[in-house]
Amino acid sequence: MGKPFVAGNWKMNTDSHSAVELAESIAGGSVSLAGEKVTVAVCPPFVYLRDVANSLHLSYVAVGAQDIYFESKGAFTGEISASMLKDVGCTYVLCGHSERRHVIGETEELVNKKVVAAISGGLLPILCVGELLSEREASQTEEVVTRHLKSGLAGLSDEKVLAVTVAYEPVWAIGTGRTATPQQAQQVHAFIRKLLNEMYDDQAAAEIRILYGGSVKPNNTADLMREKDIDGLLVGGASLNADDFLAIIQAAV
Ligand code: PEP
Repeated sequence: MGKPFVAGNWKMNTDSHSAVELAESIAGGSVSLAGEKVTVAVCPPFVYLRDVANSLHLSYVAVGAQDIYFESKGAFTGEISASMLKDVGCTYVLCGHSERRHVIGETEELVNKKVVAAISGGLLPILCVGELLSEREASQTEEVVTRHLKSGLAGLSDEKVLAVTVAYEPVWAIGTGRTATPQQAQQVHAFIRKLLNEMYDDQAAAEIRILYGGSVKPNNTADLMREKDIDGLLVGGASLNADDFLAIIQAAV
C-alpha cells in the first residue's frame, strides 16, 4: 500500500473564525506526521476555502472542496467551477458524496461529469460510493457499488483515472455512529479493487486509493486501517474536533 490518506469532510459546519482555528490546530498537530507518512486533506465549506487554504499554506495539509460543477463558467447561478476551486487553493474535491446523491438528488450522470471536470481542471476527485441500509439488507451492496463506480469513472482512461481516489461510504454508517466492521469494509474494498482490476490496467488498479468512510473515530481507526484494501479514511463528524482528527491521523499511520 502507498501512503495512507486521511481526509476530513467538514460538511456545512464551522464559521469563518472556527474554520481557520480548526485548520491551524490540525496543521500544527500533524507537523510530524502529515506529508511524510500520511496524506492529509480537509474539506471546508466553499466560503471558507480560501481562508483555510491560506492558513494551511506552509503546512502539509491539503485543501479539498465538498462539491464542484462540471461547466467551466457561465450562467450557472450558485455553482462553482474547477478553476475557481484551484484559484482558492484546492487540490481535492469530493464527488458524489451520499448526502449530495440522496439529499440533494445528484444523478450518477452528474457525478460522472463532475469527476471528469475535476480531472480536466487539474483537481484530484474523491469519488464516493456506497449503499443505503435497505440496499445492504436486500443484498444489493455489490450491485450499487458497481453502478456507482462504473458510472462515476465512465470515460476515464487508464492514465486519467490515476487522479481519482475512491471512498467507500456505506450510507447507513454515515453520521450514525454505526461503523461498518473492518471485515465488512474490507469485503467491499476488495470487491472495489477487483472491479478496478477489470476496468483498468494493473498500475491503476493497484495505485488508486480506496478510503473507508462512515463514523470513523479515533478508537476504530487502527482496526480499519489494518485491513489490506483500506488505504485511508474519509472522516465526517470526528474531523470537526482537532484532537480527534489528529488521533485518527496518528492511528492511520
Ligand atoms: C462523511 O461525511 O463522509 C462521513 C463519513 O461522516 P461521518 O464520519 O460523520 O460518518
